[in-house]
Amino acid sequence: MQIVASLLIAMTLNLLTIAAALLAVMGKVNLAARRAQLGIGLQAIGWVCLLLSGVAGAGSLGDRLLSTLAMAGIAAGLAYSAMAFDLWCGRSASSRAPAVIAAVMTAGYGIGFQHYAFRVGWANGLLALQLALVAWTLCRQPLTPVGRWRWLLVISLLVQLLVTASRGVLGAFYTAQFPNFFAPHPANILFALAANVTVVMSLAGILLAYREEAARELERLANTDGITGALNRRAWSAQAVAIVADSQRLQQPLCVLLLDLDHFKDINEAQGHETGDKALKLLVQGMQSVGGERNVVCRYGGEEFCVLKRGADPAAMRAYDQRLRDWLAAAGPRELGIPLHYSAGIATLLDQRDSLDAMLRRADSLLYSAKMLGRNITLDDAALESGVEFK
Ligand code: GH3
Ligand code: MG
Ligand code: MG
Repeated sequence: MQIVASLLIAMTLNLLTIAAALLAVMGKVNLAARRAQLGIGLQAIGWVCLLLSGVAGAGSLGDRLLSTLAMAGIAAGLAYSAMAFDLWCGRSASSRAPAVIAAVMTAGYGIGFQHYAFRVGWANGLLALQLALVAWTLCRQPLTPVGRWRWLLVISLLVQLLVTASRGVLGAFYTAQFPNFFAPHPANILFALAANVTVVMSLAGILLAYREEAARELERLANTDGITGALNRRAWSAQAVAIVADSQRLQQPLCVLLLDLDHFKDINEAQGHETGDKALKLLVQGMQSVGGERNVVCRYGGEEFCVLKRGADPAAMRAYDQRLRDWLAAAGPRELGIPLHYSAGIATLLDQRDSLDAMLRRADSLLYSAKMLGRNITLDDAALESGVEFK
């Protein structure tokens, strides 16, 4: 069998194996991985159609149908892969351009099928454009930190772009030397070799991207509380220690507020644990929405939460506390049909010898005093100095 056909058959078999293996072993996957699976699957089907079209009589209806289906599969597969890459780079909205090019290319190819030079130039030209767009999307600054897999995919796409574009130019303008897809022309041999190499590169890129995403998700789960989505105490403490050191070095103010929902056990008992969980979620939603982005919110344990506010003096923290109380006073009855309030202590970073632990101890003792004083209030360091009566 001649060389180009052998290389393309080997590549198609590899693609089919990869598509089947990814479906079989990846299990239940998220949207990005599903898009990548679909992308590879469609490309594999496209290549099967293209090889079958070589068996159908040249120019026959079967040839036209199979070749057009092949173009649709290959281009749509690339468009789906592009969506996966976008998601892996942290972009939720994908560009529609690769999908539009896939549709336009397939339609034009099917219509102009009888004109060999046109169809080869058109299909390969637009595929090259699509490859360039997808490579460009991967080169753009990702919205989430991503590993070097993206450069592997970019190289794979650029190699495909190069051989596809040269096939387009040869087919459109040097048609006589380029009679068909399987002719042993150097451009065809190069194309078939490149296709074999880029399939392996793409597979490695996809698996690395998938693994990176799984690792990121595991890290998120390890750092956050499952009910509220707030940072857990361990992850928060690691960030908070660094923020305390920063504030000391830059001599900037810093406050921590430690709060505990009042009579939360009663809410659980009267309304059920599910409503209790919703109340915790609502509280964190409030803590995040009334504060700035630089606030670091944490589920300290049970129904106790804290927030570290960079650059905040006690007055700024008291203002935050008041906004949170107002927010909860409206949201509690509206969302859960119950009033929600809390007691809290505010501690301020004092000097270079102060520490996160010491701040938390002061905030905790003020919180305890707030409970002793009848709940639903917030005390700060000034309260200690002015001698609030502790029962
Ligand atoms: P106080 O005003 O003195 O803080 O009274 P309290 O009832 O809020 O405090 P207590 O420490 O007596 O009870 C806390 C309750 O919080 C007990 C526990 O069942 C509940 N709790 C802790 N974690 C969760 C949770 O994740 N979900 C729910 N629904 N309840 C929780
Ligand atoms: Mg409580
Ligand atoms: Mg408590």
